[in-house]
Amino acid sequence: MGENVRVRFAPSPTGYLHIGGARTSLFNYLFAKKHNGTFVLRIEDTDLERSTAEYEQAILEELRWLGLNWDEGPLVGGDYGPYRQTERLEIYHKYVNQLIEEGHAYYCFCTKEELDKEREERLARKEMPIYSGRCRNLTPEQIEKFRAEGRTPTVRFRVPEHKIIVVDDLVRGKIEFNTDLIGDFVIVKPDGVPIYNFAVTIDDVTMKITHVIRGDDHVSNTPKQIMIYDALNFPQPKFAHISMILGPDRTRLSKRHGATSLTHYREMGFLPEALVNYLALLGWSPESGEEFFTLDQLIQEFSLDRVAKNPAVFDNDKLKWMNGHYIRKSPLKRIVDLAIPYLQKAGFVGDDLSGEEYERVTAIVKAAVERLNVVSEITEHAEVFYKDELPPLGEKERKILQEPQVPQVFDLVCTKLENLSDFSSESVLEMLKETIKESKLSGRKVMMPLRVALTGRTSGLELYDIISILGKDRAIRRIEQSLQNLVD
Ligand code: GLU
Repeated sequence: MGENVRVRFAPSPTGYLHIGGARTSLFNYLFAKKHNGTFVLRIEDTDLERSTAEYEQAILEELRWLGLNWDEGPLVGGDYGPYRQTERLEIYHKYVNQLIEEGHAYYCFCTKEELDKEREERLARKEMPIYSGRCRNLTPEQIEKFRAEGRTPTVRFRVPEHKIIVVDDLVRGKIEFNTDLIGDFVIVKPDGVPIYNFAVTIDDVTMKITHVIRGDDHVSNTPKQIMIYDALNFPQPKFAHISMILGPDRTRLSKRHGATSLTHYREMGFLPEALVNYLALLGWSPESGEEFFTLDQLIQEFSLDRVAKNPAVFDNDKLKWMNGHYIRKSPLKRIVDLAIPYLQKAGFVGDDLSGEEYERVTAIVKAAVERLNVVSEITEHAEVFYKDELPPLGEKERKILQEPQVPQVFDLVCTKLENLSDFSSESVLEMLKETIKESKLSGRKVMMPLRVALTGRTSGLELYDIISILGKDRAIRRIEQSLQNLVD
């Protein structure tokens, strides 16, 4: 790419960073890095009522957590700032004035009631409910009169008539829009705050953005932005609209489908590299057909040519599976440290862990790691070690404990446990194997009743890990207790 690539991610801080936004920022980041370009972060906070500092903070945090560090933007600065739209009002005003002076924009004094009425009349006549252009050609006297009445105007863009605007999209190809179907649209509200389509255009120009990569919900905004580029004689950037993300029911992914914010995913115990890897495959496919990618590998492989036109379907199970893969690839200590807050929240461990407690958590995580898809699942596996009361036995579990071999097996195991000095998983496994051999019973007949006695359940972690982690006294106590319960 001959030019110096500059792309931007431009979230509105009106909510947490969601899956779609995270994917858009990832694609921008990858494209920038691939071409040794610049990744700009711009906060589009002109919706004063819905934007909050808290959301902005959360978005920045999640982007950093994903590793999508921006080269220019809030916190890091840059030559094209400020990077928050509410701090750029002067810049917009300069261009609004230019548009008005050159006749590309005009003041509109219509009240909401007048506009609503006009809209209803148009709909009644089965016409497109676009603005009629009533204020297009006001005389200076008329303008004076409206002002004297105390009306504060909006500024509208004068849409050229009978023109076809072509969006030449890098993902979707050419898309045509007839300007006769686009009414003169508002670019500045009465309070002087610009509307998205105007602010975004001025920002993209003044920040020297070369490629606008964003969600396809903005396709219909693009002709409006192109008209503003043309009116101001600005060169257009290239546009790439990425297809939307659908839920499993093939409707647009939304809160109805469960968690969609990155904050939520992080809280559930997803790893950033798993999300990055999964999000990259939502709408983009690598040439190699590989499935696992680090961020650096993605930078190498990414190209807009391989971004699909069709919507991608979000598959939570696949994301979980992928997360499990990354959990198992991680150093155990990382997962232990991530697991501790969940155990604290469940009340299993306190705020400060002793060395011994930390070791026990390590043993639990080690025993469970093969089964973990998200770190928060650790509490299900850990429960049996922290709660002395076992879950009430179901019919199936009770039947297992009533099998005839059980008293003899339990006796034998308790004796062996008494004499066992090494309680490592390996040593317990040896002991269990010996028990099976000596009792001449099947593995199941020995292990299943033991599992039920020790955990109250018929499935879970490996039995030798469970015994090893419970330790001698608790293991023997539980086995004896269950025998006792049977007699009672
Ligand atoms: N602030 C817009 C949004 O969050 C960004 C649109 C754009 O990238 O142009 O949807």
